[in-house]
Amino acid sequence: MIKQTLSFVKGLLICASLMELMTIKEFVAKRKQELRDELKSLPRVPHLCIIRVGDDPASEAYVKGKSKDAMEVGFYCDVIVLPSDTSEAGLLSLIREKNLDKEIDGILVQLPLPKGISTKAINDTIAPEKDVDGFVLNSHFIPCTPKGIVSYLQEEGFLFAGKNAVVLGRSQIVGIPMARLLLSLDCDVTVLHSKTSDEDRKFYLKHADLVVSAIGKMGYLNESYEFKKDAILVDVGINRDENGKLHGDFVPSLPVKMQTPVPGGVGLLTRLALLENLLEATKNELLRRK
Ligand code: NAP
Repeated sequence: MIKQTLSFVKGLLICASLMELMTIKEFVAKRKQELRDELKSLPRVPHLCIIRVGDDPASEAYVKGKSKDAMEVGFYCDVIVLPSDTSEAGLLSLIREKNLDKEIDGILVQLPLPKGISTKAINDTIAPEKDVDGFVLNSHFIPCTPKGIVSYLQEEGFLFAGKNAVVLGRSQIVGIPMARLLLSLDCDVTVLHSKTSDEDRKFYLKHADLVVSAIGKMGYLNESYEFKKDAILVDVGINRDENGKLHGDFVPSLPVKMQTPVPGGVGLLTRLALLENLLEATKNELLRRK
């Protein structure tokens, strides 16, 4: 009897996580259809230029995904692959050339870059109006991961104002822009980092309505942490185990209202936000030309 009950509960948990997966997938599919529809009213197709340097397999896979997404909604995407011994000066000169190219609406340089090329130098060179990743100082766009997360939560009916939001991680590409965006939506925001004491981390997590984790530590947030029953957990972490399988920062199926899965969660939302930024870049450029 106990065995049957356990297997029933396990079945329910699997169903719940599958439903979760479908929800994000469905949201992305719906938004992609909307992008296709919007494209019909544009005089030209948005054009994304992706630059990848070196032969990092993860970067190669991310770029493939991004270019596939762009083509799936009818956008144009060209991928330039440079050898790993490319110099910083060479890469900067290519970016400057693409900045001036009127046919290109968005430029994305896939990170991480090989040693010897400064990410800051790249970010200081991409034109803010073409920085569809949203990483450049004064970029015209919201960084893709925070943007994707917020648009999904908005669609799910999450009301941000006055909510207690905790962000784990303070990187310039996820943690900090996520915290800023949540603050702009009137959340009370706490940012935790590697120097936060475990006692404080437990305290803040226990009182959070929304937790966004971007620390990159497999299953770090487990049952030893207490969460509100109606908390929303957003898992940005992408961690690969020894078999190459992907895991998030949270262990799966925590007893909360909603937890985004890994894989099939924030990664899809990030990719969607990139398409949205590209469309926005194209529309802005068309307005400038008028
Ligand atoms: P990162 O630059 O390595 O930053 C990690 C952050 O986590 C740092 O700010 C660090 O604090 C903090 N941290 C480490 N241990 C912590 C702890 N125990 N408690 C609280 N904070 C802690 O990483 P990132 O680029 O932001 O990426 C984070 C993760 O998200 C990675 O797994 C990455 O692959 C993933 N990611 C996913 C997507 C997606 O689309 N799904 C997009 C981007 C990134 P300190 O500042 O004190 O060192």
